[in-house]
Amino acid sequence: MKILIINSGSSSIKFQLMDMPSERLICSGLVERIGYDDAIINYKPNGDSYKQTYPIKSHKDGLNKIVELLLDADKGVINNTNEIEVVGHRVVHGGNSFSNTTLITAEVKEKIHEYAALAPLHNPGNLEGILVSEEIFPSAKQVAIFDTAFHQTIPEKAKKYAIPNELYEKHGIQVYGFHGTSHQYVTEKAVAYLGMGSSKIITIHLGNGCSMTAVKDGKSIDTSLGFTPSNGLVMGSRSGDIDHAVIFHLVNNLKYSLDEVKTLLTNKSGMLGLTGKMDLRDIEAEAEKGNKECILALAISTYRIKKYIGAYIAAMNGLDAIVFSAGIGENSSVIRGLVCSDLEVFGIYLDAAKNEVKSSELREINKSESKVKILVIPTNEELEIAKQAFDLLN
Ligand code: ADP
Repeated sequence: MKILIINSGSSSIKFQLMDMPSERLICSGLVERIGYDDAIINYKPNGDSYKQTYPIKSHKDGLNKIVELLLDADKGVINNTNEIEVVGHRVVHGGNSFSNTTLITAEVKEKIHEYAALAPLHNPGNLEGILVSEEIFPSAKQVAIFDTAFHQTIPEKAKKYAIPNELYEKHGIQVYGFHGTSHQYVTEKAVAYLGMGSSKIITIHLGNGCSMTAVKDGKSIDTSLGFTPSNGLVMGSRSGDIDHAVIFHLVNNLKYSLDEVKTLLTNKSGMLGLTGKMDLRDIEAEAEKGNKECILALAISTYRIKKYIGAYIAAMNGLDAIVFSAGIGENSSVIRGLVCSDLEVFGIYLDAAKNEVKSSELREINKSESKVKILVIPTNEELEIAKQAFDLLN
């Protein structure tokens, strides 16, 4: 069964075509700068790679261009659009309505539209991708996979904010959590690797967006992103946890507008705010040369992660494994080293030599005497989407 996985953002569409259940990647690609005359298309069929610039006005143009490439006589991978039986769509916010992957109906689309109020940067692009895909692949089944779904098991004591109840009951103001497909994918890998009947795991997803999840017996019981993807860890350009009174001070005393505060905390803070750089490779290189701001930013961001590790050990009354994943978690031995230092009290002992090994496979980087396993597990959100779509329909 050929499944097309679509991650449609506000100005980009990422796609992968996968054969399931063999899990064979047929091709992948990315359309960027939708809405511009110089939109960029990256297309990678069967190990080759093509990059071109076209004017792409809309998501519909973008998806049509993708289909053109998939059907191309030279570099194409299918003969007919009907070969694509399923289209799996990543949707960021499913509120409390979806705890599982679901077939897309008119009602589902209505809900995705409704939750755009909670995820204005993501849900509208996700919905646009669905609408266009229904037109282009009329015979395919359309399936939605929600970033929030894995966290629907979080109990009320962890998901309710201490604000008047009616804001939770009437307006859905609560922790939803994000990066669910990634946390779920690495959880399944970790549980299989550990081979334990019952398990307590902390999954740490460190990319441009960062989040941590406490996973007990395969279920999310707490997570660091909250009502929106702003809470918790220090991210590429987002502050993570901050006293909300800072916002009032910025507005009332420093005369920021609300929009300026939002831009400040979302786009100008985090590692970017602390160092002027967002790419961790640049920050590490500067820290290596002795740049004090960069050294401090690494200390601040990893200290935050350690605090959450402590909190989640308390939440689960124990810990069997820590999992590092995504761009930073999979590649940065510096970050892993700082996070796992001075945690011996919890039985966490990193093996410095194993931590330096570069690999794209699941690997264990703890010392043999470590009570807690430290694992690096490459995440694969697209494969998780394909697996869930396949399981739903078979
Ligand atoms: P996204 O959230 O956009 O999917 P990724 O998971 O691709 O992000 O992670 C992007 C981050 O990974 C960037 O900050 C980048 O600097 C970091 N990164 C990628 N490779 C390395 C590396 N070898 N060493 C350190 N950081 C890395």
